[in-house]
Amino acid sequence: MPFKINQDRTKEIAKRFDVDPKLVKNVHDMYANEIVPLLQDQYLAHLCRALEEFLRSKGESDSFTIRLKSIKRKSGFGGRIQYIKEREDKTAQYMIHYYDQIEDLQKRIIISHELGHILFAIIFKHQNDGKIDPNTIEHVEPLSSLLGFFALLDRSDFYKESSGTFTHTSFEKLLSDFSLIHNGKHKE
Ligand SMILES: [Zn+2]
Repeated sequence: MPFKINQDRTKEIAKRFDVDPKLVKNVHDMYANEIVPLLQDQYLAHLCRALEEFLRSKGESDSFTIRLKSIKRKSGFGGRIQYIKEREDKTAQYMIHYYDQIEDLQKRIIISHELGHILFAIIFKHQNDGKIDPNTIEHVEPLSSLLGFFALLDRSDFYKESSGTFTHTSFEKLLSDFSLIHNGKHKE
């Protein structure tokens, strides 16, 4: 778990949110046991969502998605993309497969490079009416790496310079910030 909850904290939260401690425990357990494991596969999620948005604006359907999936491998460095086109529900999807045994920083390099492939494949597809296979275009490998490089440079600078803005410094501060919602200052 990325954060720690004990009985005292559960009671404190229940008091501040004005609910039964059992309810606090149930929501905590659902988040910890069912949602947190899924977070582990969400590398570069902001970048994936931004690219989806950008590529929809370039002609992909509103339901176009990019998803990631790890592949169990004992060795090897790499990944691949799979294009799932026009499934029964009419959605197009790119799936990035990456090897699960490599370090997180390396996974981000592989995934950002594969995101570059997706970006240029779609841009070229819309530019040339699908007549040219994007994978045969010269420089597609360095182009994909360049996109990945700039994306990771941007993310690295972002984490270095602005992550403090998004982090609550203590359990108590977070709890008191949520109290704003329950004190009638927030109506939705
Ligand atoms: Zn490549």
